[in-house]
Amino acid sequence: MEDLHTFIETLEARFPNEILRVGEMVTGKYDTTAYAVELEKEGKYPVLVFENVKNSSFHIVSNVFASRERLARMLGGNIGNLYDAWNEKLNYLIKPEIVDSGPVKQIKKKGGETNLNDFPIPIHFEGDAGPYVTAGIFVAKDPDTGRRNLSYHRMQLKGENRFGISIHSRGHLWDYLRRASKEGRDLDVAVVIGAHPLIYLGASANVPVDEYEVAGALMNKPVELVKCETVDLEVPSNAEIVMEGRILHDICEPEGPFSEYTGYLTHRSTQNVLEINTVTHRKDAYFQDIVPGRSAEHLLLGGVGREASTFKRLKAVVPYVREINYPSSGTHFHCYVSMKKVAEGQPRQVLMLLFGLDPYVKLAVVVDDDIDVNNESEVLWAMATRMQADRDIIVIPKALGNLLDPSSSEGMSAKLGVDATKPLNWRIGECRTPKKIVEQIRDCLKNSS
Ligand code: MN
Repeated sequence: MEDLHTFIETLEARFPNEILRVGEMVTGKYDTTAYAVELEKEGKYPVLVFENVKNSSFHIVSNVFASRERLARMLGGNIGNLYDAWNEKLNYLIKPEIVDSGPVKQIKKKGGETNLNDFPIPIHFEGDAGPYVTAGIFVAKDPDTGRRNLSYHRMQLKGENRFGISIHSRGHLWDYLRRASKEGRDLDVAVVIGAHPLIYLGASANVPVDEYEVAGALMNKPVELVKCETVDLEVPSNAEIVMEGRILHDICEPEGPFSEYTGYLTHRSTQNVLEINTVTHRKDAYFQDIVPGRSAEHLLLGGVGREASTFKRLKAVVPYVREINYPSSGTHFHCYVSMKKVAEGQPRQVLMLLFGLDPYVKLAVVVDDDIDVNNESEVLWAMATRMQADRDIIVIPKALGNLLDPSSSEGMSAKLGVDATKPLNWRIGECRTPKKIVEQIRDCLKNSS
């Protein structure tokens, strides 16, 4: 079965420009993050493999999810149909399979042998409370029904066997812990660090099913799982690193601040504690990292599942919607929608629906389908030339928003909706070259480069 190693090998063979192997020594203190941030400023989003990490034999792999194009390709789509590709695959969930063993069991460290300081856990940004594991997939089971769940939560290194964690998204894991705590029990978890990217994408889905089934759907085959050593949980047989332990039910400790996707430090935290008692990993394990803050990969990995679901529901009501894009400049708060308008007033219908479906969105722009929503410059051109502020803007004050938006008050935001579509009776010619010529010239340019 494919894993992070085979993914990187295949990527390197087919798209060598999408991977950057860094031979220079890094410490993991700010520098791995700085690589990703500086490359992003140049419009480059390679997977980063840090081969020379000070005081560690592990390689750090980062930035896997930074490119929208790469992410779309993983789903068998392209940049223009990313959400359709995701939604299509989610129609056919595939149950995982249990196997006897796998590479993740090559090294086992139990009880007193485990020491989290063995791993090159980075410090990402100034102001972060300490080193953070950012690519940890939490595996847990519903204490009442046994249903399995996968989710992400930030993990602040607190000691040889201890993490501070925040479950502020208040999803399934938070609910499991709440119910276990009521009965005076800790919650067993396994944390997967490093796996095939489609397992990460599957785990990012916010759906009321076992996310391994979503990962199976994305991979078109069952995810192979092995049983954990000390907890009744299952992890991918070829994961890189797995940590087993429990979230304590009766202790809260300060956790954070941490650099969140808004681009700001946040103190918001549920302040839970995770104790690790067993670690298993591959001999050649990569230590995977997700660049936090408002990095492209943090936004894409955190967004695609919710955005695809919003897109599906929006299109179910207004089939004239063509594409949506949540630009990284908007950190989940801005959304561009293109549509083939057939009646005046439809863009406002879309705006109202969108604000209702996704409370994160505070600025939404509707454009015609000749505008590429994945090209921010085209969207701004449409706003510059097809929109008048006195007639094409709606503002909805005091609606449910996102608590991490530092400009919001008490979790409420004003919503700004912009209709940047042309009127139906628009008769103004645009500067365009004939399609046939454009295709010819594209071929010429391709051959000459
Ligand atoms: Mn879930």
